[in-house]
Amino acid sequence: MIDLRSDTVTRPSQRMRDAMARAEVGDDVWGDDPSVAAFEKNVAERAGFAAGLLFPSGTQSNLTALMAHCERGDEFIAGQQSHLYKYEGGGAAVLASLQPQPIDNAHDGTLPLEKVGAAIKRDDIHFARTRLIALENTFQGKVLPQDYTERLLDLAKEHGLLAHLDGARLFNAAVATGQPLDALCRGFDSVSLCFSKGLGAPVGSVLVGSESFIARARRWRKTLGGGMRQAGILAAGCQFALDHHVAGLTDDHRHAQLLAEGLASLPGIEDIECHTNMVFARFPEAYRQTMAQHLHAQGILVEPLARTRFVTHRDISQADIQRVLVVMQEYCRDMAGATSE
Ligand SMILES: *Cc1c(COP(=O)(O)O)cnc(C)c1O
Repeated sequence: MIDLRSDTVTRPSQRMRDAMARAEVGDDVWGDDPSVAAFEKNVAERAGFAAGLLFPSGTQSNLTALMAHCERGDEFIAGQQSHLYKYEGGGAAVLASLQPQPIDNAHDGTLPLEKVGAAIKRDDIHFARTRLIALENTFQGKVLPQDYTERLLDLAKEHGLLAHLDGARLFNAAVATGQPLDALCRGFDSVSLCFSKGLGAPVGSVLVGSESFIARARRWRKTLGGGMRQAGILAAGCQFALDHHVAGLTDDHRHAQLLAEGLASLPGIEDIECHTNMVFARFPEAYRQTMAQHLHAQGILVEPLARTRFVTHRDISQADIQRVLVVMQEYCRDMAGATSE
């Protein structure tokens, strides 16, 4: 199967499995796992922070960050379309007693500064206390403009707010811009990074921040059931991804570009966008019902959405992209013929 639904579908390679099998382990809740400790330290250094903490998921890492930064009744500002607000089961409200203040994302993924400014509440007992702003980079594959991020961080500082970055795919942004990871993290109080997306590890996210922040996060992670025992096996997979899979994200971006260029010339296509490892394509309503089914029958997986998302990753080759384009060409030609009859 050529699985383009997400970059989470990657399977660990034999070499990664070997590295995991060899990992030295201990009970990480007791602080005894050398592989976890070394990996957390490596990630923190690379991101420019004092400390890091391994999580079983990015969802738990983001939620823990909010809990370690905020108190019950506080408010955080986040994008209406952000993962942290929209795709994490409402955890911040449900489990942390925090009030989300969503702001409509601009098309480029930014939260417009004037909208953020207007949403920040003054100190008044009627209001929840605005405490934190969360950004996401990449956002639907888009790299946040660095000058925007700096202005947003200035605004946060002006109002005494903390800033968290959901950097689930921040390595994609680093590779796409040629910026080192720490440059993209600078000015944030915490960053969450995923190793189970394009980097290809089976499990693992790391939250980075100051020593005192990570100490608080460690308590909340335990509360949330995220304290893991011989987690060095997982950390070794993530460390392997960090050592061997970062540069390969460039191939994913190139494959996405190839796919987008090929799709752009298909009959019927209404709109196409390509950012890092994601391609979004809009087809006529009449195509929507059958396209995902047709692709599936040809061994290609996409989600049947109004705006079809194709995500490239390390288990997709250039030959796979060519195969997808051939199938899509046939399909769109048939559909265009059928609808013009
Ligand atoms: C995948 C993802 C997460 C975390 O997801 P998990 O599946 O919980 O690891 C967080 N933010 C963004 C933007 C993501 O894409």
